[in-house]
Amino acid sequence: MERLTEHLIVISFDCLSALDFPMLSELQNFQTLLKESSYCKNVETIYPSVTYPCHATIVTGNFPNRHGVINNTFLQPGKPSPDWYWHRRHIKGTTLYDEAKKAGLTTAALLWPVTAGANIDYNMPEIFANRPWQHQIAVSLRNGSTIYQLDMNRRFGHLRNGLSQPELDDFVLESTVQTIETKKPNLLLVHFTDLDTQRHYHGFASDEAISAVHRHDNRLGRIIKALKKAGIYENSTIIALGDHSALDETKAIKLNVLLREHGLIEVDSREKLISWKAYCNSCDGSAYIYIKDKADTETKETVTELLRKLSENDANGIEKVITGEQAGALGADPQAYLMIEALQGFYFKESHQGEYIDEITAEDVAAKRYTFASHGYSPKKENYNTILIASGKGIRKNTVVPYMQLVDEGPTFARLLGLQLGATDGKIITELLSE
Ligand SMILES: [Zn+2]
Repeated sequence: MERLTEHLIVISFDCLSALDFPMLSELQNFQTLLKESSYCKNVETIYPSVTYPCHATIVTGNFPNRHGVINNTFLQPGKPSPDWYWHRRHIKGTTLYDEAKKAGLTTAALLWPVTAGANIDYNMPEIFANRPWQHQIAVSLRNGSTIYQLDMNRRFGHLRNGLSQPELDDFVLESTVQTIETKKPNLLLVHFTDLDTQRHYHGFASDEAISAVHRHDNRLGRIIKALKKAGIYENSTIIALGDHSALDETKAIKLNVLLREHGLIEVDSREKLISWKAYCNSCDGSAYIYIKDKADTETKETVTELLRKLSENDANGIEKVITGEQAGALGADPQAYLMIEALQGFYFKESHQGEYIDEITAEDVAAKRYTFASHGYSPKKENYNTILIASGKGIRKNTVVPYMQLVDEGPTFARLLGLQLGATDGKIITELLSE
């Protein structure tokens, strides 16, 4: 298949919302990008709309039930800090970067989720040291391109302050600029989380979130400049996208508190979870309910009855309860017994201690116990879509795509590079392409 571009630069601005579009069109670099671009400000995300499943969807064109990354974190009841779906091996089927590599193209990925251990030429995966004895840089080096990461850390490591924002994105930006200028990759995937972090800790429309959008505009400008400096701008395609939006919240729901009260979760004298029959696995705005023994009809009945009662009163924060089968039909994990959706203003936490519902205070958020906004909600929630802006080689000029889905991005990106992802859930958005 013929290639429509030489260099595909995919920039994920985590939590960039359709509601940000008017602001973007006023900012210098986004304005420049938009001028000859085609875009969609009505991109429907996936369920659950959390970062790791979203990014696995972007590179596969499939819903979570097919690519296997059904949440950010694994079901690990009782673990204070569950492991995330960091590794490429958790994605079933092929990806954009695997197909690019197979075709002999040069690939780079910076902080792109679910790429630890992936076969990418220049790979700096997003993976956190999750055990007290692990050291962050050693974990990153082991799971990505060692020499490349050592070089980036040597040059720009001083910009980092652990995982704090905006320092982390500043480090990622400098590494991206350096990678474009010296490696000239055919496919570059980069993931910035400044905006998402500010929205979590300060609220959707906070001054901090607005500042982050401004910083993202500067980052976009620096990437455009790097492409020009590398002499590849005319042969490049720039994609700026978001993975989901976010909604403000004032209350945290802890369903495991009630499962414990019903004897379905057992704890020891130090409140540590030691066994479970049913468990609420949070995806923030939604949650999966798992039953340990699928033949345990008694537990299933107890859980079903509990949720039926909770759903009767909006004060309990539950908007909807669906079966695992229905969740699977929406692209989420069909292995769950139930999937529940929070009412706007609520989100789910996994703690089994304290009250069923906590009012979120500024102290809670400052201590990072809770957040002021989150995602993970149903893609059908109002004002919850994200955006995609495409510009450059292979992109038609000035076309507005009225609606598309996150699953359509992978096949469209593959087409730009003359690649195929196979029979995907998503389809190529031909209106975006110049041919
Ligand atoms: Zn995200």
